[in-house]
Amino acid sequence: MEQRLFDIVVIGAGIIGHSVAFRLKRIDPGLRLAVLGDPVNSLMASRAAAGMLAPFAECGKADRFFRFCRESLEKYPRFIEELVSVSGVSIYLSTTGSLMPSASYEGNWEERIRFFREENVPHELWSPERRREKVPTLSDSCGEVMWVGEGQVNNREMHDALAAASRKLGIEVLEKNATGFIHDASSVGAAVTDAGEVRGQKFVLASGSWSLQLANILGVSLPLKPIKGQMCRLQVDDDLLDYTVHGMLTYIVPWRGGNGFVLGSTMEDRGFDPLIEEEVIRDLIDRAAAVMPCLEDAPLIESWTGLRPAAEDLMPIMGKSSRYANLYYSTGHHRNGILQTPHQADYIAETILETLREEIPEFSPSRYNL
Ligand SMILES: Cc1cc2nc3c(=O)[nH]c(=O)nc-3n(C[C@H](O)[C@H](O)[C@H](O)COP(=O)(O)OP(=O)(O)OC[C@H]3O[C@@H](n4cnc5c(N)ncnc54)[C@H](O)[C@@H]3O)c2cc1C
Repeated sequence: MEQRLFDIVVIGAGIIGHSVAFRLKRIDPGLRLAVLGDPVNSLMASRAAAGMLAPFAECGKADRFFRFCRESLEKYPRFIEELVSVSGVSIYLSTTGSLMPSASYEGNWEERIRFFREENVPHELWSPERRREKVPTLSDSCGEVMWVGEGQVNNREMHDALAAASRKLGIEVLEKNATGFIHDASSVGAAVTDAGEVRGQKFVLASGSWSLQLANILGVSLPLKPIKGQMCRLQVDDDLLDYTVHGMLTYIVPWRGGNGFVLGSTMEDRGFDPLIEEEVIRDLIDRAAAVMPCLEDAPLIESWTGLRPAAEDLMPIMGKSSRYANLYYSTGHHRNGILQTPHQADYIAETILETLREEIPEFSPSRYNL
């Protein structure tokens, strides 16, 4: 690889890394940008995710994280429209909402309803009769069901679109991992790959769970670990379900377009373990079939494992390094990185370009002296 100098080098070719490069280039087409990362990493979260855009089903208190996720959901339709028009790749996005059956809700149902009311979350309570009328494929054991106004995206199509957009916009996509850095005590000069050095004025560490190892090379102790999720996809007709369903330790996500339904997922603290276990996948199917009986015998299309990057406090790590003057982080998006993508891309781009109006201290790398 010929040695070239970039304005900004993004390390990580998942949805987070590509979306940061995309937003920077859209704001300033003159920027010389590179994205580094192995495109066939089979444990990459961005291709393993189910694509739920679920700030309301996933968040339990009205903190800054909840607001950030909610704001990101609001940005989704325009973000996808822009991405499709730049990339030419179509992306399935649904805003039909999700369903939470009361019978499989693990917390206090009344408190959840109160939370939704207080926070003006778009929601409706469906009696068992109304649920039967609207979604006859769900089991009668679901009881009362809450409809929630949130969304669903096909994250693999979105990742494909981001990679295509990067190329169309003239972002250098270098399909190589960083194996080291050239740096001094206060700044990073280059990322080292097995094809040579990639020099930059600024660097963004956006390597999901692998940010841990790269930070180590920089002498930074990142409090982050991979949380493994096993998932599978079943062949089921599109018209059997329009909504994402959150069941007891399970969710069912329609991908539409003949792509079947995704069932998820485990949360396992097992390091970088790639194993897919048949009995775990069977358990996912059984749990989902308790909510939607026709899934019991549906043909299995595929099963897989992916790694969620989880910081110690489960908040994203986003912003400028307090150790290196030209290093930025966007990692630790854990269970909701697909949801956070549009807002995160704006936030990091504005941080780098020094146009950000308000830093979010809860997400700042400085909380860990990074
Ligand atoms: C099973 C599962 C289900 C999920 N479901 C949802 C969901 O429904 N909704 C939601 O919002 N979120 C979901 N998530 C979370 C979401 O997928 C992640 O938060 C998000 O994809 C993180 O993206 P990322 O780009 O930071 O990391 P990743 O997608 O893991 O990408 C990391 C990138 O870094 C690259 N890399 C690794 N090492 C190096 C190196 N040395 N040099 C350069 N690059 C390197 C990798 O090749 C990869 O390209 C789920 C995650 C999992 C695992």
